[in-house]
Amino acid sequence: MQNNDIFQQAKRRIDRRRLEQMTAQSRRMDEIAEKIPEVMEIRRKLAMTSAEISKVILQGKTNLAEGLAKIEEVNLRLQQRERQLMQQAGYPVDYLEMRYTCPKCRDTGFVDGRRCECLKAEMRRLNVEQFNASSPFKESSFEDFDLTFYPDAVDPESGQNPRLVMTKVLGFCRSYAEKFTPNSQGLFMFGETGLGKTHLSRAIAGVVAAKGYNVVCGTAPDLLRRIENEHFRRTEDDGTLDRILEADLLILDDLGAEFSSSFTQSVVYHILNSRISSEHPLIVTSNLTVQELSEKYARRIVSRLFSQLVQVRFIGKDVRQLKRLREMENKK
Ligand SMILES: [Zn+2]
Repeated sequence: MQNNDIFQQAKRRIDRRRLEQMTAQSRRMDEIAEKIPEVMEIRRKLAMTSAEISKVILQGKTNLAEGLAKIEEVNLRLQQRERQLMQQAGYPVDYLEMRYTCPKCRDTGFVDGRRCECLKAEMRRLNVEQFNASSPFKESSFEDFDLTFYPDAVDPESGQNPRLVMTKVLGFCRSYAEKFTPNSQGLFMFGETGLGKTHLSRAIAGVVAAKGYNVVCGTAPDLLRRIENEHFRRTEDDGTLDRILEADLLILDDLGAEFSSSFTQSVVYHILNSRISSEHPLIVTSNLTVQELSEKYARRIVSRLFSQLVQVRFIGKDVRQLKRLREMENKK
């Protein structure tokens, strides 16, 4: 999507907001017209005031000030009466006023001819939405995370009960998503393939994005390839690294699956370091063991993952395999 399209689309969203607020206001008007007809009568009289003022001025009478004062007095009395009627009926006095989503620009998107913050925020949101289109996280939710795939028995090797551990992990992720702020701590989700790390990180992304935060989501191989192509100017689009560094939440999925080079190493370090030191949360997932991570990455990367992100360990048996088995059994 071109920049201009993003502007147009953001503008349309702001326009829709204003229209919604206007509809809501006229609904409140209808309600009051039915319940307290006198209020609407007062409003009609008040609306006529400006016509009356022009009339007084045009007549050019010598007692202009007196005429205006009289109108003013009537106006005040009408406004007082309206407030009284509204309060008696249990309504807030500003019930009939227009309520803007953004009072700064009154939902027009512009303040003194310049783009308002709300319009810019909407453009940023669209930019990220478009960026995430290739890795939709709306498809994973906490609700369809199936704990029955995790064995409910103590594993002799680890001495832990996978179902119990994963119940806690699920609860932790859910509460992390609900309490998310752009200063939340980052997470490092690790464990073997097929244990639901991607599922839960995407579920967090979905909840956080629904709150209106910008979430950038992608696999390490895909994001690093994009950054590399942009860096060596193989593609027109750029700004992947900026989006990654600026997002309210970054999901860096499947770290370790990328083709490793000195370029990717330095980019991974740059991403981890920038986000952690600027206190911008990120969620990293990896199928690699500590041993494998240490072999693949420089120590400064591994130490950031383990010491500065909250560790979330996934255990159990490959859920995807179990799912396939279950499906086959159901077909029999
Ligand atoms: Zn605004």
